Amino acid sequence: METIIGIDLGTTNSEVAVIQSGRPVVLAEDGDPILPSVVGLDPQGKLLVGRAARNQYALSPERTIKSIKRKMGQDVTVALGNQNYRPQEISAMILRALKQRAERVLGHPVKKAVITVPAFFTEGQRAATREAGELAGLEVVRIINEPTAAVLTYDPNPPEMERLLVYDLGGGTFDVSIAVVEAGVVEILASHGDTQLGGDDFDQRLLDFVCDRFQTEHGIDLRQSLVARSRMIGAVEEAKKRLSTEPVVLITEEFIAEKGGVPLNLNTEVTRDEYESLIEPLLAKTLKCLDDALEDANLQAQQIHKVVLVGGATRTPLVHRLLTTRLGRPVHAEIEPDLAVAMGAAVQGGLIAGMELGPVLVDITPHTLGIAALGEVDGFPTPHCFSPIIERNTPLPATRTEMYSTTHDGQKGAEIRVFQGEEEDTRLNALVGEFAIQGLSAVAAPNQILVRLDLDLNGILRVTATERATGLEKQVVIDNMMERFRHRERTDAIERIEALFADSDDFEEEEDEEFDEGADTSDEGSEAVPEGAAQVPDDSSTELQRAVEAAEVQIAKASSLEASASKEDAAEMKGLIQDLRAAVASGVLADIRRITTELEDLIFYLNDA
Ligand code: ADP
Ligand code: MG
Repeated sequence: METIIGIDLGTTNSEVAVIQSGRPVVLAEDGDPILPSVVGLDPQGKLLVGRAARNQYALSPERTIKSIKRKMGQDVTVALGNQNYRPQEISAMILRALKQRAERVLGHPVKKAVITVPAFFTEGQRAATREAGELAGLEVVRIINEPTAAVLTYDPNPPEMERLLVYDLGGGTFDVSIAVVEAGVVEILASHGDTQLGGDDFDQRLLDFVCDRFQTEHGIDLRQSLVARSRMIGAVEEAKKRLSTEPVVLITEEFIAEKGGVPLNLNTEVTRDEYESLIEPLLAKTLKCLDDALEDANLQAQQIHKVVLVGGATRTPLVHRLLTTRLGRPVHAEIEPDLAVAMGAAVQGGLIAGMELGPVLVDITPHTLGIAALGEVDGFPTPHCFSPIIERNTPLPATRTEMYSTTHDGQKGAEIRVFQGEEEDTRLNALVGEFAIQGLSAVAAPNQILVRLDLDLNGILRVTATERATGLEKQVVIDNMMERFRHRERTDAIERIEALFADSDDFEEEEDEEFDEGADTSDEGSEAVPEGAAQVPDDSSTELQRAVEAAEVQIAKASSLEASASKEDAAEMKGLIQDLRAAVASGVLADIRRITTELEDLIFYLNDA
């Protein structure tokens, strides 16, 4: 069968993919699947395409061209060296580099390609893209929309009609599209966006933040020096990417400036919270576009079956959080967001060549992994608050770190209990392992503890707790996570039923055990708390406290049933939950116990119905 390559010709980055053994594969060279969409001339006048051209951009902008995609279809020229080129000629240089990459990796000539363009591209812009392909020596068998390609990557042939929302945040542009897919045909119902918004703007905000800080401290504006600025651009982009998986990053650049003949180093920490507050206003704009797209498609958020994330900048955790909140459902990012469009172009090429292709399967975490921390569940302070670290559907291998802190001054140890599941209350999730980090420094709270989870392709989970100030570290390895995940699906249902059949006495006994484990929250084993989280009273072993905990479990169970209950039952449940909360607030033990039992009975009845 002939090879038809799929190309994502992006504003910032481009990729080429092909179908191998029935799956789309992005072709990498030197381990890198991404080719920056940058063209330049080196000092000797030799043509550079990709990373080398990108690296010289900040220092030699006159010899470098980036974001040529913005000019496609316009009747303009750009200067490179002492020549002028039309936009499609510059794009052709990028396409030729991708064609050559494909030929080197595959070991045979390649002639045909599917190339993607933004949904909003006009006929003129599409024609210019086609021409660029031809200039690069390719037969362009089809031009398809980027969101269409993303949908094809996720599932070209869903069993039933599916509506998808594709949220694409790249380096310099943002697009949101609503698509319908059925039997291999994708239709774009609406598309909105902002052609001047993307990850580059995040870099700029972070650059200003760090440079302002340096200027306040040393009185020197790093943005004024071409060399310093160029180094800073690279450093902040790197830091931004690390903040997608780490709660805090250290940015260091040696000899970045000079003052009175003394070299100055940059050495500054940026937390994810600080970074998020810089970019949140930009992300708010994307949500406005999303509303407009839904309105144009005449759809409500609930009518969307799947939310698909595309574009490198969607790796930012805040994007996931904002969209999950806004659309009320988990988002899909299990296919590398910056590779999904190229993969979809390859799928389209495969379909044109007559291949039968199903959904792309990737190794992902089927459940969220996280630890127990002090926090609030349904407005109640509890030590059983689930703090997620690796979100479900994250592609493997995955590494994520979050920061927690101790509660007591002089606390010597902290209990790390790792759970899998989707419930806010850890007692409704499955415990996968626990350990304590001991020998913490005798300092006042909060003492920061970093908890890192590494989950590899073989399902081995490594959990590391590190005292941030000293580097003191404790690690455990938990094997067979994949087995556990599978086991969980099977036992979930059984456990739920068993828990409901247990009478209230049994239930309290169960609770007692849990409490004994957690009860050594003396100084030795207090659990870690997320930054800024609420504190709980120390004494968790009184009867009242236990009754409150039991009440919370029932409230959590009830809340998860509310959506599926009939109107009347839901109303009754709401009433009981309110009464129970009031009882808890007033602290009357008998009332708490009585209403807890009533709520438990109702849950039992609902599950039985
Ligand atoms: P485009 O479609 O515009 O060509 P991409 O989809 O490749 O671009 O997205 C590039 C953008 O994604 C850049 O701004 C880059 O810094 C950003 N990016 C890449 N990886 C990450 C990451 N791990 N976290 C946050 N942003 C990232
Ligand atoms: Mg893109």
